[in-house]
Amino acid sequence: MRILIAEDDAASRLALAGILRKNGHDVLETETGSEALAEFLKPDGPKLGVIDWMMPEMNGLEMILKIRELQLENPPYLIILTARQGKADIIAGLGSGADDYLLKPFDPGELFARVEVGRRVVEMREELIKSRLACERQAIYDSLTGVLNRRAILDHLHREMKRLLRQGNPVAVGICDIDHFKKVNDKFGHQAGDDVLMGFSRVLTENLREYDLLGRIGGEEFLVVASMTPGADLTALFERLCRKVSESEILTRAGSLRVTVSIGVACAASDTTVDELIEKADAALYKAKEEGRNKVVYDRRCAPGSDQPGL
Ligand code: GH3
Ligand code: MG
Ligand code: MG
Ligand code: MG
Repeated sequence: MRILIAEDDAASRLALAGILRKNGHDVLETETGSEALAEFLKPDGPKLGVIDWMMPEMNGLEMILKIRELQLENPPYLIILTARQGKADIIAGLGSGADDYLLKPFDPGELFARVEVGRRVVEMREELIKSRLACERQAIYDSLTGVLNRRAILDHLHREMKRLLRQGNPVAVGICDIDHFKKVNDKFGHQAGDDVLMGFSRVLTENLREYDLLGRIGGEEFLVVASMTPGADLTALFERLCRKVSESEILTRAGSLRVTVSIGVACAASDTTVDELIEKADAALYKAKEEGRNKVVYDRRCAPGSDQPGL
C-alpha cells in the first residue's frame, strides 16, 4: 500500500523507506510535518503514515493533532516514531491522536508488524465506508429500477412544496401507472415483467427535463415531481412521457415488448398538502384508466386551458 514517511533525518528516512519498499509498499518521503500534512489532505492521499516526532516547521505531534482536528471521514492511520521513550512521551504521542508508537532505533521486524496492523485497520475502515455508502444508496434508490424509492421521492416532494410556499414556483406531480401490467407478468413471466419495469423507468428518465425527478412509489406505479418555472408547459411534458412510452420497444428476456401508461396529473397551490396533491393525481389517474388508458388526465386545477398561474 501507499505509505508516507515524514522524517527529517536522511539516514533514518532512507532506512525506513528501504524496509517498507522491500515489503512491497509504495513509499512517499517527506521531511517536515507540513509537507506530510499537505500529502494526507490530497483527495487521494496516503492512508498510512510513519511520522517522526521531532521535525522542523511542524513537528509530528502537531501534524497529527491537526489531522485529528479536521475529523476526516477516512483519516490516515498514523504511527509516531521517536527516540523519546518515557511513559509520559508515549502517553502524549497517543494522546495527540497517533494510532501507534514506534521507538527509535526501530527494529525492522517490529516496523513491519506494526505497519501490517495499520494496513488491516485501513482496509477495515475502507470496507466500513463502502458498506455505509451502499446502505445510504439502498435507503434512497429503488433496487430494481435505480430511480428514487417511494420515501425519497416523497421527501423531495415535501421539500418542493416548502419551496413553493417560499418562492411561489408551482409544483406538479404525475402518477404514471403501467396499463395492464399484470397481463405482462401473466403472459411473459415475472422476470420479463421486471425487465419492463426497468425499461419503462429508463424511458421516463430519458424524457424528463433536468429539474424533474422520478421515483417508484409502488409495483408498477411511478411518480414524477415537476417543478414548474412560470410559463413552463406542463402538458407538453406529460403528453411526451405518455407518447414516448407507447412508442418504445422495451427489450426483455422474453423479447421486445410494448406497454402503455396512464398518467394522472395534479398541481399544488400554496395551501395544498402533499397528501391532497397525491390524492388528486390518483383521482385523475383513475379517470385515465376509466377513459380507456394510454392517456393523461389532469386534475381540474391544472387542466390544459385553466389559468393556474405559471402553468
Ligand atoms: P391497470 O391498467 O388497471 O393498472 O392494470 P394492472 O394490471 O397494471 O394493475 P394491477 O394493479 O391489477 O396489477 C399490477 C401488477 O404489478 C400486479 C403485480 O404482480 C405486479 N407487480 C408489482 N410489483 C412488481 C414487480 O416488482 N415486478 C413485477 N414483475 N411485477 C410487479
Ligand atoms: Mg526528527
Ligand atoms: Mg397498472
Ligand atoms: Mg397500479
